[in-house]
Amino acid sequence: MKTFSDKDAMRAHVRSLKAQGKSVGCVLTMGFLHEGHVGLVHECLKHVDEVVTSIFVNPTQFGEKEDLDNYPTDLEGDLAKFEAAGVNAVFLPTPDVMYPEGADTVVTVAGLSDILQGKVRPGHFQGVTTVVTKLFNILEPDVTVFGEKDYQQLAIIRQMVRDMAMAVDVKGLPIVREADGLAMSSRNVRLTPEDRAASVVLNQALDLVTKHENDPLTVEEFRALVREHIAQEPRADIRAIDIRDAATLAPFYGRLDRPAVILLSVRFGAILLIDNRVIGPGKEHL
Ligand code: AMP
Repeated sequence: MKTFSDKDAMRAHVRSLKAQGKSVGCVLTMGFLHEGHVGLVHECLKHVDEVVTSIFVNPTQFGEKEDLDNYPTDLEGDLAKFEAAGVNAVFLPTPDVMYPEGADTVVTVAGLSDILQGKVRPGHFQGVTTVVTKLFNILEPDVTVFGEKDYQQLAIIRQMVRDMAMAVDVKGLPIVREADGLAMSSRNVRLTPEDRAASVVLNQALDLVTKHENDPLTVEEFRALVREHIAQEPRADIRAIDIRDAATLAPFYGRLDRPAVILLSVRFGAILLIDNRVIGPGKEHL
């Protein structure tokens, strides 16, 4: 497995793979890898000959009060995990490689970037779409895999690729969970043991909804069910429970007559956890 920090050398490597007739996929991460990230690589390898990954903690997607400097890192462990997963090469750029002096161009998916998480984290999705565009331009992937864990991010990336006619096929990977159901996240290590134990309430609440998926309930009733269940856990500080059209993220009212996504945003101590679940008829055709 090769590593590159120079963008021209990285691009030349991808092009040399393609010159050998190989298809190339990419998996973009901020490091501190877990089984979810490894799952993205395995999924990508189902569609392409070689997978190239990146590790870059992107400053432009962090708000002023967000903890960019404390983002956990483990480069040695990350490289070992990528190597074991069969990754061909890893791109490890420094911030000045991604944002050279005077870089003024940004990419924004209007609308979708301003709702839900985008409302509480202004500028976050613009930071994501800008860096993902740059990484796509450097890695020139045929396929990319993003996690459904970050549901809104995946919807935004899909729309950006469609709107800008980018030549990459975007695939989604279902949420990879710990044995007790907590969605894997690099942030989970920062939970106190008590909060870690309490955090299973999120997946439990989503399981409850799945259990009642075929009941004749309205979206408002599903939301109440989720809220009541999570509110039983005193350590859970509910920031948002949204139910939206799973395809467009538009508001959803009334009976569940098409796929809907339940989006949870809940704090445990200082740590904000997100989780989601798609329910409703036709969800398998999304
Ligand atoms: P991050 O390193 O957190 O920026 O995430 C990089 C990629 O991994 C994104 O596409 C995430 O959606 C995906 N990802 C993170 N956690 C999970 C998970 N538990 N299951 C599936 N994908 C995930």
